[in-house]
Amino acid sequence: MTVTISCAGDADLATKLHNHLLSTLSFVNPEAISLKDDEIYVDLPNLDSKDTVLKRISEFIGSDPSSHYQMNELDGIIAIGTPASHKEMMESILTCDMCNYMTAYEEQLRLHRMTHGMMG
Ligand SMILES: [Zn+2]
Repeated sequence: MTVTISCAGDADLATKLHNHLLSTLSFVNPEAISLKDDEIYVDLPNLDSKDTVLKRISEFIGSDPSSHYQMNELDGIIAIGTPASHKEMMESILTCDMCNYMTAYEEQLRLHRMTHGMMG
């Protein structure tokens, strides 16, 4: 069986994950793991090995906590992407009205605004 891993349009993420799977899935041939744009296809030797693939993906996501990626499985396709809650956080980002400096933290914006005061 073939497992499809979709990175939701993120080709950079797909490339990194492809490399990770190549180096960690020792039980499959390198040819069995293929990359096409934002999707990775893994030809599994048996059903049990799917759990190992899922485990390796979890490790990959967990290795970079700042990435905010999440894994969801739907209709046999493993989808990896940024959850909606993180997108909402990005939308509530604060901007400096003097220079469009952006930050998610109020304290950081306050400190940033002080630099304008120092220069003026
Ligand atoms: Zn500013």
